[in-house]
Amino acid sequence: MTSGYRIMHERLRREFGSGVGSPCTAPGCRRLSDGWGLVGEASHLGEKGHDDAQIMRWSNDPKDYAPLCYSHNAQLDHGGDWLMCPSGHVRITWGTDPDGGCRGCRRERLREHKRRLRADPEYRARENARNRERRARRRSDVRAASVALPRSSEQQDTGHTATTKGTTRDESR
Ligand SMILES: [Zn+2]
Ligand SMILES: [Zn+2]
Repeated sequence: MTSGYRIMHERLRREFGSGVGSPCTAPGCRRLSDGWGLVGEASHLGEKGHDDAQIMRWSNDPKDYAPLCYSHNAQLDHGGDWLMCPSGHVRITWGTDPDGGCRGCRRERLREHKRRLRADPEYRARENARNRERRARRRSDVRAASVALPRSSEQQDTGHTATTKGTTRDESR
């Protein structure tokens, strides 16, 4: 079955051409368009069609479309608008990865992933063991370094301590 999404994009191509090669209409973008992107409000939501189950948004009004580069097209396909991603991250602050995904959303997913990992006792035990090992290694490094100190510096230290003692005695008088 041909989806509404496909029908609309076929209509755009028929009536307005491929849209490929025009300047991308996203603000400040200097790339060339690779096709029509939905810049207006979506009126429909559904599968892309032709055995592609990806959920797409579309509008049946050609005025809601403009030439967009690959990255900006993907950015809007994920939802949201030029200003914000669907989760409300301001795009100019968070940035977008080349596939159009919001970096703010990606960071949140990562944090959530780490939080879930830390909640897992097995993972925590492994992490603790690794940290203990690292600390032990650092301690033995310090010990090795103190053994390697040259003898002469010890004598200098002794002389300096004596001077300090003398000064202290003078002050106490
Ligand atoms: Zn663009
Ligand atoms: Zn986001």
